[in-house]
Amino acid sequence: MSDVSSARGAGLVTDRERFRAAAERLDATDPLAGVRGRFVLDDAADGVVYLDGNSLGALPANVPARLAEVVGEEWGRLRIRSWEERGWWSAPERVGERIAPLIGAAPGQVVVADSTSVNVFKAVVAAIRIAQAGPEGPGPEGPGAVGAESFPGGSVPLRDELLVDAATFPSDGYMAESAARMTGCRIRAVEAAELPAEFGPRTAAALVNHVDYRTGRLHDLPGTTAAAHRAGVPVVWDLCHSAGALPVDLDRHQVDFAVGCTYKYLNGGPGAPAFLYVRRDLQPRFDSPLPGWTSHADPFGMAPSYTPAGGSTRGRVGTPDILSLLALEAALDVWDGVTLEAVRAKSLALTDFFSECVAAYAPEGRVENITPEAHPERGSQVALRCPDAVKVMPRLMERGVIGDLRRPDVLRFGFTPLYTGFADAERAAYILAEVLTA
Ligand SMILES: *Cc1c(COP(=O)(O)O)cnc(C)c1O
Repeated sequence: MSDVSSARGAGLVTDRERFRAAAERLDATDPLAGVRGRFVLDDAADGVVYLDGNSLGALPANVPARLAEVVGEEWGRLRIRSWEERGWWSAPERVGERIAPLIGAAPGQVVVADSTSVNVFKAVVAAIRIAQAGPEGPGPEGPGAVGAESFPGGSVPLRDELLVDAATFPSDGYMAESAARMTGCRIRAVEAAELPAEFGPRTAAALVNHVDYRTGRLHDLPGTTAAAHRAGVPVVWDLCHSAGALPVDLDRHQVDFAVGCTYKYLNGGPGAPAFLYVRRDLQPRFDSPLPGWTSHADPFGMAPSYTPAGGSTRGRVGTPDILSLLALEAALDVWDGVTLEAVRAKSLALTDFFSECVAAYAPEGRVENITPEAHPERGSQVALRCPDAVKVMPRLMERGVIGDLRRPDVLRFGFTPLYTGFADAERAAYILAEVLTA
């Protein structure tokens, strides 16, 4: 008998049998079960459960061979010719087009470049510049979409406040702070749920995390975006914890700007470049604070002055990180035939199931589940508040359950429906209960 079962008596054994049987049934009917084979993961015999795909997605099985080809053939043999012959130059836009359908974007609006932090900076500064210029401001070819309806007559109001999701990922907050300073804005932290009531004539832009990285709370993207637009405010959404985890529908909700990681739920590999979405009608007004040569209209003209390219290319900065970018491109093959609706359905089922197992197995009062219960408010992770999380997580990892810790007291478990099964969830919850009991 394990520690947990001896501590909690025969009732637990019954619970365990019941949950294991349920897991078996759910895995057997899981339409995404076959996708797991597209990844390199531990053998079942190793007993490792990887629940950290929201920090670093697992390696897609086709990537090593593709990377070997890129290095050996494209870099090793073709060398400089690969920029043209193997499409290296246009890879940022091409890989952007592969990500676009996963975030509900029509072609021509997504580019892959730089890190999320850098893209947050570009997007927030560009959003503020558009808002401050007003509908008749410089940059646009004709009156812009954002703000135009709010300021008849083309008067340019003073928009000097940048709103930032109060629980933002720190790097986003640091970038926003600098962006505000550069543009003469004050920065104000507002709970994401309160944002719709806070947009006003002084608001220049807002930066919001779609899913809270600590609690896994999913914020209201359609409602917040609509409220912002009524006040003439462009919004930058950070999709790091939603891209590849749930349907996002950027175009449908007329999102202005979005950024996100590709190494989390998109499995692009450590440090894979991030994406930047600029809605098509805003692109002519997108005035990048980082106007590098690869976003120039004629990059090889080597002109002394900057003329921006059109389209999504305007979001580029310098030379693309080809090895990471092409690893990401290959990694996106795992999405062939996979719908975000199926991913979302399984994600909700997995996080429900894991939460139920934890509630049944964990000793009374040891953890508090802070994951939103309502499906429309939940991302693809389970967050458990645990006073000694700092000690618990290393023990869990020794036992093969790989989650992560968000100090001071949050145990975080990411569920990647492409490769995580219900038996994995059950096993992780059981081992967690054993660690909490020990
Ligand atoms: C992971 C994450 C980042 C990471 O940014 P990098 O520039 O890639 O380090 C940024 N924002 C959020 C919300 C994240 O979850």
